[in-house]
Amino acid sequence: MNNIKNILTDRFGRYVKIDTTAVDGAKSLPSSNGQHILADLLTAELNELGYYTNIYKDSTSTVFATLQATQADAPSIGFIVHLDTAPGTSGKTQLQTHKNYSGGDILLNKELNVWLKVSDFPELENYIGDDILTSDGMSLLGADDKAAIAEVLTGIDLIKQNGIPHGQIQLVFVPDEEIGLKGAKALDINQFKVDFAYALDCCGIGEYMVENWNAGCATVKFKGQTAHPMSAKGKMRNALIMAHQLISLLPAQERPENSEKKEGYFWVKNLTGDTAHAEMIIDIREFDDNKYIERKQFLEECVESINKSYQAEFVELEISDVYPNIAKTITSEPRLINLITKAMTNLNLTT
Ligand SMILES: [Zn+2]
Repeated sequence: MNNIKNILTDRFGRYVKIDTTAVDGAKSLPSSNGQHILADLLTAELNELGYYTNIYKDSTSTVFATLQATQADAPSIGFIVHLDTAPGTSGKTQLQTHKNYSGGDILLNKELNVWLKVSDFPELENYIGDDILTSDGMSLLGADDKAAIAEVLTGIDLIKQNGIPHGQIQLVFVPDEEIGLKGAKALDINQFKVDFAYALDCCGIGEYMVENWNAGCATVKFKGQTAHPMSAKGKMRNALIMAHQLISLLPAQERPENSEKKEGYFWVKNLTGDTAHAEMIIDIREFDDNKYIERKQFLEECVESINKSYQAEFVELEISDVYPNIAKTITSEPRLINLITKAMTNLNLTT
């Protein structure tokens, strides 16, 4: 068991060393070279393990591998994990191991006095006695989703080492999940022929998701007009003020910081610009299909009302659907959930 723990943490350590930060707005897929490097490393490791077939990396750096069935009547199962890490924080991970955690806050960076606090992450205390892996507080750890890469490969090592019978298992490692599921959307589904599949991502031990938001992304462009401030009256039109107008129309209670559970929201995620031009990104999230449509319509009405106030089309709105709620798809395949609950029971885990 100790050996398996070392294999798991060694793998994780190797993967987080590679900076696979996704680059928002990049034209290429994957959006960053580090994802090519990690895809190459995984391809080499899968080959070296010797029990996978059909191992290949396609032009988007998506990596495929198959474990042939040893039990003919078992379903074929897929596992999807992602190679990239979230933009916004440095992906040059400095990994630290805090051995035999005894509870309390963890000092991540002595020099800069950065702490991982129990008050912010109360779940830390569930792991007393364990080794805790963190970054140095100034870089992203990248456990999302490199922990899953290490776990799925090590889980399959265990299946093989213990001779546990299984159906066909297919692994897929996709790029650029963090920037609108680009890798998953580009996935050649004809190369992924399974009865059903699990995405391994996020969450604590014992948690699994059977539904999710309908997710949309709105890009709003504001066309302003500069003028010399000495003679700006009636001439200047400030794109930043127009952006502020839009924000003020969005309900304050429907922000991520003011909502919880299944309450939908608008997340004003990014605003860049100056007097002449501004651009805003708003994430739209809503569980219910109809409410999601209403939310998009509401945003359209807000933009219309600002344009009406200027009697011109100074604000442009473009909404794209990022991903739908998967609830309906899941209920059509009862084995998906049955197998998870059986595995949880075997491991004495509660959800
Ligand atoms: Zn993730």
